[in-house]
Amino acid sequence: MNQKTCIRCRFSFPATPEFFSIGRGYADGLQSYCKSCKRELSRSWREQNRERHRELCRRWNRARSAEYLSWSNMIERCYNAKTKAYKHYGARGITVCERWFAFENFLADMGPRPRPTDSLDRINNAGNYEPSNCRWAKRVQQMRNTRVNHLLEFNGERRTIAEWSEKLGMPYTTIHERIRRYGWTTEQALTLKAQKGKKP
Ligand SMILES: [Zn+2]
Repeated sequence: MNQKTCIRCRFSFPATPEFFSIGRGYADGLQSYCKSCKRELSRSWREQNRERHRELCRRWNRARSAEYLSWSNMIERCYNAKTKAYKHYGARGITVCERWFAFENFLADMGPRPRPTDSLDRINNAGNYEPSNCRWAKRVQQMRNTRVNHLLEFNGERRTIAEWSEKLGMPYTTIHERIRRYGWTTEQALTLKAQKGKKP
């Protein structure tokens, strides 16, 4: 098996990823420091560059945070025509306020996401991403706000299916099926009691 000599400790090890890290730019694809020297070098680098190291950790943690993902997805939806959601956002003229082009400002205004089930929600669905129009909200609440949700008018009130379902204590699917699939009127769909074992 090929041997490779570490340029720091001068020991020879088998030239495999078990003993050397992968490193582009080396003829055999393996770095010239053995793994234990590599570890020692990075530790002393960290000790001499504490601030820089902390900054890199912060960046790394930030890149994985829910808030950061919400923020970057928001930017993508509005400005990257290659994303699937763009047609519902950027293409419809939905923008992000300039202050929020910086993640730090977005985080400062929105605060940390309160619950893992929350996502970034616009209060007015035709409005832009800006502090006055955004909140962290449960995904269910967000569903109600989407354009595709038709409003059902009954007794002078206009509500989405999800809202009627909550108010009347009727299963969402019952109302939905009655109207979309069976073509019932709103009144029928919201007032008739479901019969056991019978659909809808
Ligand atoms: Zn070594």
